[in-house]
Amino acid sequence: MSRSAHPAGPRHADVLPEGHYSAPPADLNALDPKVWAQTVTRDVDGVATVGGLDVKTIAEQYGTPAYVLDEADFRARARAWRSAFGADADVFYAGKAFLSRAVVRWLHEEGLNLDVCSGGELATALSAGMPADRIAFHGNNKSVAEIHRAVEAGVGRIVLDSFQEIVRVAHIARELGRRQRVQIRITVGVEAHTHEFIATAHEDQKFGIPLAGGQAAEAVRRALQLDSLELIGIHSHIGSQIFDMSGFEVAAHRVVGLLKDVRDEHGVELPEIDLGGGLGIAYTSDDDPREPHEIAKALTEIVTRECESARLRTPRISVEPGRAIVGPTAFTLYEVGTIKPLDGLRTYVSVDGGMSDNIRTALYDAEYSVALVSRTSDAEPMLARIVGKHCESGDIVVKDAFLPSDLAPGDLVAVPATGAYCRSMASNYNHVLRPPVVAVNDGEARVIVRRETEEDLLRLDVG
Ligand SMILES: *Cc1c(COP(=O)(O)O)cnc(C)c1O
Repeated sequence: MSRSAHPAGPRHADVLPEGHYSAPPADLNALDPKVWAQTVTRDVDGVATVGGLDVKTIAEQYGTPAYVLDEADFRARARAWRSAFGADADVFYAGKAFLSRAVVRWLHEEGLNLDVCSGGELATALSAGMPADRIAFHGNNKSVAEIHRAVEAGVGRIVLDSFQEIVRVAHIARELGRRQRVQIRITVGVEAHTHEFIATAHEDQKFGIPLAGGQAAEAVRRALQLDSLELIGIHSHIGSQIFDMSGFEVAAHRVVGLLKDVRDEHGVELPEIDLGGGLGIAYTSDDDPREPHEIAKALTEIVTRECESARLRTPRISVEPGRAIVGPTAFTLYEVGTIKPLDGLRTYVSVDGGMSDNIRTALYDAEYSVALVSRTSDAEPMLARIVGKHCESGDIVVKDAFLPSDLAPGDLVAVPATGAYCRSMASNYNHVLRPPVVAVNDGEARVIVRRETEEDLLRLDVG
């Protein structure tokens, strides 16, 4: 079990496969359902539509850039995860991928739970009416105030991430007269990205308590001794944008090994195991993600098998998909501003947003695709690079993609699969205003996060 990683993986992104974008797609006007939200199609005039609404109307009404989110698709994906895992498992949506009050309500209605990892995310969840006992609180450095608030609100679980935190949470729970349900996050020495993973004894990262060297076992020992904590299970999260289940197999094997040691030492069978999130989505037509029911089946089989061979009762499983639910449901709608052909290289297409609304390309060398959406075109394909309006040459949204060569200023282009980690990582760099999130459903659009205004910016600048 080994070894190197893959281009789409955040830390290994500089190895593009040979000739990756060497050939233009057969049909530049096609909107591949793999990367676009479920209801996206083109109308009779060739204008792209989502939820029955065309993008020109959306741009006129809400401006560009804008994140346009397909509500029906979001709900369908949430429901698919929920039903794939069934009543004997829990699905926690990872709020960091994208969180807003509308999203919290949809999740609540579709029967999902919610992961938060800051006071701000917790406040958003609570203010939209997510029952506290369906919230899990994560993070490697939760403040005392955040822990206090989470315990007081009655969150369903706090995921303990360090030895200090075991004591800190126990102390706060005792002060509040509570017994707080907790999990311990461990690192099992598996780092997974896309099609490959690395399995080692140690994991060199800030999250969790290492299984190696008996540290995780010691954490369990301490948590079990504290009356104000109810230790319900072990948590492991192995990476992001994962397609290959074998990393989970190694992780589950190691987590179950710990559960067995805990049973042997303390006579306690911990009732839950959380395998984290990280399931991959299609950013380009080359990606082939698995369906939730396949993932559920694979994970359940892995855990059941491991537990049978360790003679343990199979614990309740939970998972934490973020990207896999929200990622494919949105696209970013931009207007083309300037076009610069660089002979023999490529054509630079500048749009009215950039690294402030999608930092993933600059940060992880992430791959995206793009399409002309305000019309179709029969022009020849040109190799384009979609760049933003920021004062930074690394301000790239889509590194290499083909667009029709008659592209002109004023055309609308859209980048699909931007539902996750785009609005939630957006910044005000260059004092650019963060775009709105417009949810479309059944022919109607609704702003769920409004566009930032200059007034918003100046309100923070107290002079
Ligand atoms: C980021 C994260 C997730 C969600 O990851 P996705 O790649 O969006 O599925 C789930 N659990 C934990 C602990 C995380 O840090």
